[in-house]
Amino acid sequence: MTGAVALSCPDLGDFPPPTLETLPDAVARNVAIARARTRARIMAVVKADGYGHGACTVAQAAVAAGAEWLGTTDIAEASELRAAGLTVPILTWLNTSGLDAEAATADQIDIAIGSVDELEALLKHASSSVRVHLNLDTGMAREGCPMPEWDALIARARQGQRRGKIRVVGLMGHLPLADQAQPEANEAAVVQIRQARRAIMAAGFGAPLTHLATTSGTLSDPATHFGMVRLGAGLVGIDPSETTELHGASRLTAPIVHSATAKAGTPVGYGGTYVTDTYTSLSVLPLGYADGIPREISSAASVEIRGRRYPVVGRVSMDQIVIDTGAESFPHGTTATVFGPQDGLTPTINEWARWAGTIPHTIVTGIGRRVRRTIA
Ligand SMILES: *Cc1c(COP(=O)(O)O)cnc(C)c1O
Repeated sequence: MTGAVALSCPDLGDFPPPTLETLPDAVARNVAIARARTRARIMAVVKADGYGHGACTVAQAAVAAGAEWLGTTDIAEASELRAAGLTVPILTWLNTSGLDAEAATADQIDIAIGSVDELEALLKHASSSVRVHLNLDTGMAREGCPMPEWDALIARARQGQRRGKIRVVGLMGHLPLADQAQPEANEAAVVQIRQARRAIMAAGFGAPLTHLATTSGTLSDPATHFGMVRLGAGLVGIDPSETTELHGASRLTAPIVHSATAKAGTPVGYGGTYVTDTYTSLSVLPLGYADGIPREISSAASVEIRGRRYPVVGRVSMDQIVIDTGAESFPHGTTATVFGPQDGLTPTINEWARWAGTIPHTIVTGIGRRVRRTIA
């Protein structure tokens, strides 16, 4: 599942095809940075195939670097981690493919439950005790149980636990505003999760492992850490709170597959939105919006070739972009780096996000399936 997806991988000759390389060392360094900020346990969240970096690769690197838990949205994703030999506790929370109590028990996967309905669905199929984290809506209105229904959820969970079908081991919330890096913005959620925790203990359950913070809370607000933090974006070098310099965990490269010179006044690409203003060299990279290059990029977008940056010019096509290399002309097969870890020269995913008016998450999760995957 980390893997090379053999679809229509274009044969471009005797040089490497477009490649997304995952850098496990960077994941390890990012875990170390989080570790230095918190005494709480660290859950490595590897949903969406490890934010596009390969779920198993990222999970293995994070666990080796000290992450004690793993998290995914779905039981099927969690089972893949088990199949890859990962033995630490795993929590899933959306369970879009259904609450498969049997798989949860067989693969020892903890399930987050955010409503009485979800709990009923789980209880119906649970034959032995499934480990459950009660999920409180702490201000997202997207997942989790609203506070007014919390007591009903706890009451039903008590019955389920008495009958040996579930065991409540955790309490979960989600911070809606932590990327603002202002602890005041998290206060309401912190108060709510404390209340919910007291209610769980008053109902006779043991102290639940409590977790609220994601990357932004981990890096910017210790009051949100409780017993565990859930680190996803931070693993691959993204800090939504913009307080901490993390390490980019991937590198996207592509070979130049076509080069030509163009005289001044030459329109480039669909619509001729860019016209050369001088005699220049143009190079084509076999990556387009079908491969995750955002079509919305501004004219500032650039790639690195042999230690210099050159602009992407004209519209992004489905399969190609054109680079204006000015007075330089590069041979067929020369490698261009689209993005990579920050080294002062290589464009970063944060820069690509800025050029496209988006967040770096969408850049890394959007890389298409025909781009080859490797691990450094
Ligand atoms: C995605 C997600 C995380 C990880 O958040 P990051 O900001 O990527 O660290 C944690 N918890 C839940 C419930 C999530 O959906």
